[in-house]
Amino acid sequence: MVSRQDVPGFHGAGMGRVGATSREAAPDRPHQHDDQPPGAHPLGDQEILVLAWFSASSMQDPEVRARLWAAWGMCPRHSLGFVAVEASIYHGWLFAPAILYEDLMERAAGALEPRRVNGRWRTIAALQPSEPCLLCADGLTAAAQAPATAASLVGAARDLAPLRGLAAVLRPHWQPWVCGRCSGSGGPLRCRPHLIADLTARSAVDLAVQRATVQELVCHLHAYARSFGWATRGTESDADRAALLGAIGWCGGWELILRYLI
Ligand SMILES: [Zn+2]
Ligand SMILES: [Zn+2]
Repeated sequence: MVSRQDVPGFHGAGMGRVGATSREAAPDRPHQHDDQPPGAHPLGDQEILVLAWFSASSMQDPEVRARLWAAWGMCPRHSLGFVAVEASIYHGWLFAPAILYEDLMERAAGALEPRRVNGRWRTIAALQPSEPCLLCADGLTAAAQAPATAASLVGAARDLAPLRGLAAVLRPHWQPWVCGRCSGSGGPLRCRPHLIADLTARSAVDLAVQRATVQELVCHLHAYARSFGWATRGTESDADRAALLGAIGWCGGWELILRYLI
């Protein structure tokens, strides 16, 4: 078994290079494509290795948590990959992602609160990230190779089937939350990047509908996060579990979720 000290880039995943990377957030790109064919895993081996340790190590660091908060999680590819790796190695037990996205959707609810003065521009500012994805900022790409000693861990963490299975079972619950622009359905809901784009373009956006959806996700994520307590185990509903995908889609866009999980 490879130890976390042996993982090249491990300390770079939000630990050792804090302050050494640009504080300026990368442009928010709703349609960030990668080079992988449909059905492949969104991450490369080294990214999988780093994320296999992430929730048990770097993510516990307050400064890393602050960077995740400031960046609205990670970029779409690393967000999806993080949850896929967690689902793979913890067999669908998604405690760390549930806690992270409960936190982020509470931030989202605050960002969408009505404002009397300069409401549109203040909402846009509140929705913008102030940090880049911490894995991207550390230079982790899908091309990065993991050391041969980590092959068994990477192999165990690479399975996309557990998250695909969850997405399939929970689809009736998360489907209504999909952004109308990411899916091309023309529906009224917007992910955060498309909400920023529509508000910036002064397109018609029903913010009351967006607020109601975000609040719905917050309520479900509260219930989901609470269900990881011993005394409240098993109290979550399918809609509560589906809200994790809803939150990932809201924070970074739905395109990669729709591409990799359906
Ligand atoms: Zn990233
Ligand atoms: Zn969208």
